[in-house]
Amino acid sequence: EEYTTSPPVYPSPNATGSGWDAAFQQASSFVAQLTLREKSELVTGETGPCTGNIAAIPRLGFEGLCLMDGPLAIRQADYASAFPAGLTVAASWDRDLARQRGLEMGAEFKGKGAHVILGPVAGPLGRSGYGGRNWEGFSPDPYLTGVLFEESIVGLQENGLQACAKHYIGNEQETQRNPSTNEDGLTIEAVSSNIDDRTMHEVYLWPFQNAVKAGVASMMCSYNRINGSYGCQNSKTLNGLLKDELGFQGYVMSDWGATHSGWPAAVAGEDMDMPGTIGWSPGAPSYFGGNITRSVNNGSLPLERLDDMCRRIMTPYFHLQQTSYPFIDASEPALAGNSPSDYNYTFNLGNQSDIDVRDDHAQLIRELGAAGTVLLKNVNNALPLKTPKNVGVFGNDAGDITIGLYFGSDPDLQNIGYDFGVLPVGGGSGTARMTYVVSPLEAIKTKVASYDNKALVQYVLNNTLVIDSGGFEILFPRPPEVCLVFLKTWATEGYDRPSLLVDWNGTALVESVASQCSNTVVVTHSGGLNVLPFADHPNVTAILAAHYSGEQVGNSIVDVLWGDINPSGHLPYTVAKQENDYSFADITNSSALLTTTDPNAWQSDFQERLLLDYRYFDYINQSVQYEFGFGLSYTTFTMDSITVQPLTDTGNLSATPPAQAIVPGGNPALWENLYCITATITNTGSVAGAAVPQVYLGLPQPPNQDTTPKQVLRGFEKVMLQPGESQEAKFDLTRRDISYWDVVTQQWTIGAGSISVMAGFSSRDVQGTTSFSPLG
Ligand code: BGC
Repeated sequence: EEYTTSPPVYPSPNATGSGWDAAFQQASSFVAQLTLREKSELVTGETGPCTGNIAAIPRLGFEGLCLMDGPLAIRQADYASAFPAGLTVAASWDRDLARQRGLEMGAEFKGKGAHVILGPVAGPLGRSGYGGRNWEGFSPDPYLTGVLFEESIVGLQENGLQACAKHYIGNEQETQRNPSTNEDGLTIEAVSSNIDDRTMHEVYLWPFQNAVKAGVASMMCSYNRINGSYGCQNSKTLNGLLKDELGFQGYVMSDWGATHSGWPAAVAGEDMDMPGTIGWSPGAPSYFGGNITRSVNNGSLPLERLDDMCRRIMTPYFHLQQTSYPFIDASEPALAGNSPSDYNYTFNLGNQSDIDVRDDHAQLIRELGAAGTVLLKNVNNALPLKTPKNVGVFGNDAGDITIGLYFGSDPDLQNIGYDFGVLPVGGGSGTARMTYVVSPLEAIKTKVASYDNKALVQYVLNNTLVIDSGGFEILFPRPPEVCLVFLKTWATEGYDRPSLLVDWNGTALVESVASQCSNTVVVTHSGGLNVLPFADHPNVTAILAAHYSGEQVGNSIVDVLWGDINPSGHLPYTVAKQENDYSFADITNSSALLTTTDPNAWQSDFQERLLLDYRYFDYINQSVQYEFGFGLSYTTFTMDSITVQPLTDTGNLSATPPAQAIVPGGNPALWENLYCITATITNTGSVAGAAVPQVYLGLPQPPNQDTTPKQVLRGFEKVMLQPGESQEAKFDLTRRDISYWDVVTQQWTIGAGSISVMAGFSSRDVQGTTSFSPLG
């Protein structure tokens, strides 16, 4: 029964401006000058030049808001960069690169006149490996996601862009993410993500708490239901968790079409309706708009709530100094398929088009693409490549894209994407209109030509041809010294993945090549985890998981293959031995539900509770192919001298945080650093490289609970070391880091007993342990 109800939490907490005091004053005086009609327009999207538009109010000098997709690029712009996906950032385990990516994307969005980026993403978190949008976010580990989410937001907002943390909350599958209509015209409601209170706090809400603490301007409420109530009118998650418990001061916008009512959504905590019309089409009626005016006039919506919605929208605008902002690039509406003849209002649209905002961002894109590439296997010194004179290249992921550089709504792309061409980004609203792409084959040819004009690069990009020929000796008279096989896995908004294998018969392709070539090196470009049945094949000498690395995809992988960059990525998920080792449900295998006549048929009970990914495999003691946190390097590292020190007088530490006024991020005591773990990391090999030391904690089992994970990630660093060099790495532990969520007292609570510390280079490569007992 904890799954079937979402308790009512009313009224909606008014913003107080905490942390944004001056801007809150400006917003308050601005809102005081608005007419009721202007207020209703401020909270309702309009048809305009951008993905989402709030109209200008010229009499008050407000130029309106331009909201643009999405988390890795300005989706509909050209002359803008396609950055590596969130998944790639997660695999880099690199705070600095996450922040820098945010900064550079922030500059691009601002340069094109977008006030708000519809990103970053921490929902989906990645509960199921089949999730079609996991790549837009980071990792199924909430701590890793929380840190990188926060760094991204700080970077994005640093120079005046507003970030939008999405999709809040429990948005873990694409299948039935929205309501549908069955053959009899009956509405079948969207899937309900049924999440217990402890799991909500310790897993799904966790990164959003980081986002609020980081000062995120806005949040996007999600399409799905949570415990039976729609994400954009769920008073528990919006009023209760987000605005009350976490002290969120910004505004909640609906996902596009996720609003299902007018004033009931507003009083439940939704502040802005996007795109503003029912069914998206220009001129269509709206749940908000004129209905908001009517609801205030007939007394159903308190004017106080509408004023709070408006102040929440205007405060980040003033705080980030968007009062004089660059014009919206005139080419954007056309690229988005919007027509100025549909606009009823004024927007900040300029005359200048095709503004090139890319600057030197290709450098970071190339670097981050390599940093988010994980070396999973490397035997016989296969990598780095020396200067092979005869390089074989295989697979439909190696060459140039053949279907254009924008993965729009072509139905052929729904399931496994396109056949020929590299896969640098996924599909849907999180894609990019790529200005150019450097394919692996192009980068390989350039690299090989740079050291030997006479060296051969021989390639066959047609998977079927290689598989059907039973090998490739007939194709290549001279057997290659190394056979590079490029595989891909499509993932897109709107569809969950049908399989965890690589697409396009990639497994058979590897087996076919490896049967002919004793030095087969496999590279995957994938929107999530893959099982790799060929992992232990003796002729497969190296495997690299390269994720979605953006427009420099070819250069990033060549840098790693030839050793110009020493790989330092680590898995942000677990690669199991086989597909059915995972605990998560096949969320696509819902065919019976597709013909249901029960409006409430779509229920997804999050019964694994806290045991996502490695937490599950650890819990059942299951061996895996490559564990969470794993990643090889061209050098070797050791870790020693693991210690733990209290940072405050922990002699009289209380189990629960002292009561304090809530600020953005919740009770400030939750963020106080209470302990610090240190460890010494040494590069014991012969080349420079970056280690990723990781700290896992075994927290005490709270009373009446039985699924506390054996260990949870609570610290990581990326440490660059020259051969022979040592450095001390530090991992601060906050009160939240060492607490569990007590569902009875509704408090983060430090459990009684000892906390064990496991430090190492992956979740299963423990280099040393220690322990401490905070409560004595
Ligand atoms: C997606 C959002 C996106 C919005 C606008 C929705 O379908 O779920 O992530 O920002 O469309 O394109």
